[in-house]
Formats: sequence, C-alpha cells, structure tokens
Amino acid sequence: MKKHNFSAGPCILPEPVMKKAAEAVIELDGMGLSLIEISHRSKEFVSIMESARHLALELLGLENKGYSALFLQGGASTQFLTVAYNLLEKRAGYVNTGTWSLKAIKEARLFGEVLEVASSQEENFNHIPKNYVIPEDLDYLHLTSNNTIFGTQIKKFPEIAVPLVCDMSSDIFSRQLDFSKFDIIYAGAQKNMGPAGTTLIVVKEDILGKVSRKIPSMLDYKTHIAKDSMFNTPSVFAVYVSMLTLQWLKDLGGIPAIEEQNDKKAKLIYSEIDLNPVFSGYAKKEDRSLMNATFNITDDTLKETFDEMCKEAGINGINGHRSVGGYRASMYNALPMESVGVLVDIMSELERKG
Ligand SMILES: *Cc1c(COP(=O)(O)O)cnc(C)c1O
Repeated sequence: MKKHNFSAGPCILPEPVMKKAAEAVIELDGMGLSLIEISHRSKEFVSIMESARHLALELLGLENKGYSALFLQGGASTQFLTVAYNLLEKRAGYVNTGTWSLKAIKEARLFGEVLEVASSQEENFNHIPKNYVIPEDLDYLHLTSNNTIFGTQIKKFPEIAVPLVCDMSSDIFSRQLDFSKFDIIYAGAQKNMGPAGTTLIVVKEDILGKVSRKIPSMLDYKTHIAKDSMFNTPSVFAVYVSMLTLQWLKDLGGIPAIEEQNDKKAKLIYSEIDLNPVFSGYAKKEDRSLMNATFNITDDTLKETFDEMCKEAGINGINGHRSVGGYRASMYNALPMESVGVLVDIMSELERKG
C-alpha cells in the first residue's frame, strides 16, 4: 500500500513523475539507453536541462526579465556561502527565522559583516519578525521564505531598496508571489521539486560582478550562467525528475492552481488543530506555513495511541524535528488532499477516544 507521505524532505513527488523517472532509468524515450548512462553533452540531456531551466523561469513569471535559472550541486547549504561569496563586499542583512537562517548567517560571516536585522530566536522561532528597520547600505538582505522546521512562513515581504536574496527551499512553486522582487532565489530540489542532488538558483544577472574578491569558478554564478548550467557534469537524474515535476505543475495550471490546492490542504489541517483540544499549533496563527504544519499533542498519555493509529493508517513522516518536538505534517505540492483527510480523521477520532 502506498503510504500517506508527510515527510519534510526528501518528500513526496507526483506519482506520474515517479513512474516516468523509473522508466527513464531503464530507457530514456526509446533511445536504447538509460538516462543515467548517456553523456550530459548529448542532445537529449541538453534539451532536458534547457527545458528544466526554461520551465522554472516560466512558472515563476521571470522569462525575459534578466534572470538565469541554474541547476547546481551542493544543496541549498552550498548556497549559504555562494551567495555571500558573490555578493557580500562589506555588510549584508539577515533575518533570523530558524535553523536554516542561522546556518546561512554562519557562512556569510566568513565573507564580511552580517547584520541580524531581526530575529525570532528568543521565542524558539514560533513567528516571523515584522516591522524591522532595514539599513539602505546593505549589499543585500537575506530571507528564508518558509521555515521548514518551525512551520512558519513569510506572508508579506519587505519593500526594500537593496538586493533581495531568498532561500525558498521548502515553498518554491507553492504559492503566487511577485518573484521579480527577488534578485536571487535558491531552493534545494528535494522539498517541492525533485530528488536530492540538485539545487535551483534563479539569479538576476545584473547584480553580479560587484565584489572585489576573486571567486573560484565553481562558486561563481557567472561561470554557470555562461555555460548554461553545464560547466561540469550536472546531477542528470535529479535535473530530469525536477524537469518532469515542473512540467507536471505546468500541466496542472501552474502556481495559481497548486496554490488553491495547498490553501485547502492547510485550511483542513489547521482548522482541526484549532478545534480539537487534543492538539495545539506551534507557530503563531498569522505566520503559519502552508507547507509544514507543526503541532503538539496536549495530553502526553494519548501520544502512543495517536502514533499507533497513524501507523495503522499508513501515515509516514509526521514526527516533529528534534528542535521543536511534537508533530509536523509537511504538505508539499504533490501531497494529495486525501492524505490530509486521513490524518485529520485520525485526529478527530483520537479526540472522541480521549
Ligand atoms: C532543507 C532546507 C535547506 C537545506 O537544504 P540542503 O539541500 O540539504 O542543503 C535549506 N533551507 C531550507 C529552508 C530547507 O528547508
């Protein structure tokens, strides 16, 4: 039986994408060769890479606006340092909204001054800081749009004059935003796009080339832009599956269509969390993530029963991150509404039992 997969990442991918990916490992499009045994310079793979890059920009509404889309290795974690390497000359601003922001801050400090313009660390990141002052002399401001571990999400982005960089690893392609407000968007594939092994980076080309330091080729965005994201061997499988997922999303009606579904899934689970006295939400209501719902069980004696019920129903991956405890239901694009329904039914059944 296929499980209801609420895993935070790597996570659920669309069923048709998985089937096609599995076939391509055996044989790609009638070529007589596997996707993972052909040259990345073959016309077949070059066209896969071009489609993936093009689809990413198309879905974000960033075509012909001076942006380039890259699929690189090293995960979002490598972007923590690559962003600073390419953009940080004197001083950058970071909003500290959780574990991933902290890691980004740590790396950036190796390259220049980092100003923590706002933080929610004192309340264990249960909300998004608001109404903070952003100095105008920053090289850039760095945000994390969705805090995967704590279940908070930025709803309103600051209007700023400095370049805006955003780690969108766990909510890219999940909701409509004016993506042209951002100068760099990066996201590890394994949360909403594909398997682990590739990272999407969307860069506005005119913000590059302004730092005085020398940048190693592999860490220089310009290298990868000039080589159409093929400077070295890309993660061919991860890029192919990401391309399939982006095509799946486009066929579904793009971000507006998936956002509607994501809203419904989130409403369903959060209304249960709020109405059911056995559970309490972790994140402040106005900052709740549509992707990762974090919650606790109010009566610990019911935990064992709940876990057992979840297991029986085939629910996978709802244990909270160790730094928060409790539960986390991740509801990425590919998670069907039906799975959320199954979880919510168990939650209300527990209330009746308890
Ligand atoms: C998972 C995650 C990361 C880390 O991604 P890697 O690809 O494992 O380096 C960074 N930022 C956010 C917001 C994440 O959810």
